[in-house]
Amino acid sequence: MAGMHPEWPVVGHQPVVAFLRQSVQKKKTAHAYLFVGASQIGKATVAKHFAAALLCAQGSDGGWCDDCLSCHQRALGVHPDYHVIVPARATADSTARPIISLEQIKELQQRLSRRPVLAARTVAIINGAGLLNEKAANALLKTVEEPNPGTVIMLTCDAADQVPLTLQSRCQRLSLSAVPTAEIIGALRKEGVSHSEAERIAALAGGRPGLAFAYVQDTQLRKACEEELETFDELTRQAWGERFRLAAAWFQHANADHTRSVAESLRSRLEVWMTAGRDRLLEAAGCGHICQRTRGEIAEVATIDLAAVRQWSLFLDKVIATMVALQQNVNPRLAYELLLLDMPRQRRAGKEMPA
Ligand SMILES: [Zn+2]
Repeated sequence: MAGMHPEWPVVGHQPVVAFLRQSVQKKKTAHAYLFVGASQIGKATVAKHFAAALLCAQGSDGGWCDDCLSCHQRALGVHPDYHVIVPARATADSTARPIISLEQIKELQQRLSRRPVLAARTVAIINGAGLLNEKAANALLKTVEEPNPGTVIMLTCDAADQVPLTLQSRCQRLSLSAVPTAEIIGALRKEGVSHSEAERIAALAGGRPGLAFAYVQDTQLRKACEEELETFDELTRQAWGERFRLAAAWFQHANADHTRSVAESLRSRLEVWMTAGRDRLLEAAGCGHICQRTRGEIAEVATIDLAAVRQWSLFLDKVIATMVALQQNVNPRLAYELLLLDMPRQRRAGKEMPA
């Protein structure tokens, strides 16, 4: 069939994509899905393609055709049976925390209460479901508990515990994990990026294809990430006193940034730390060869430093906990300083010691 998509254009996530395609083919879909995975890993992309397959009038193999009226209207963003919600700021203040409000959910509920006009189903995607406020989450719960037949609701979030358990338990949960570096390199090469560039960008992206593409388009963003990695290296070499001095300077800088909140700035710093910290963990575990290579001098010798493995794994746990806490209005400075206390200290290449 003309234009039929034999493959979904998704980088990585083959098991999840295969599962969803099969469920479209067998017409065995759940009423609600929860896609969980790091930011820019591909959750919204997978959800978008799943929606395309569900809405297409003649997609027979778990794909879509790009030819039918349903596909056309979806591509134009005017499909009457397809609704996408993203978090928004309640005020014009650019540092206000974006949320999904009760009003947004009520409007969606009204749309979901109508019969589908064009497609066999009504499909809704709620991106950033971790930012549903309490009232919105409660309202959404009712919709998910008593869904209209033929309605498919997809939620995406960075970590499952950002979404109330009652809501989680009503959704089919699908976890998206880091995409192998080789696949990201392959995807970047297809876009015309040189091999050495692709290798470097894939390393920085830490398994997140969306971030890799963002680095290709935005060299400033990429430079900022490289600077973050240098800061990370620097911090691991310093003792507490100096770390806190650097933290104070960083907060002054973050406070002066009126394009985003301090919590948001800190979250993007911690995302870089996740990748860099995971590299340190792998290196300590004698697996330097599978590092993302966020820095030059990775220890190639396969020696295992159990103390360092323990320290880095505890540290990564705390980075994740801090990122979750930042979405729940904790004091960013306090959270950051606590994290600095738990950051393993590096005396010289390959040797960690307590800070
Ligand atoms: Zn179609």
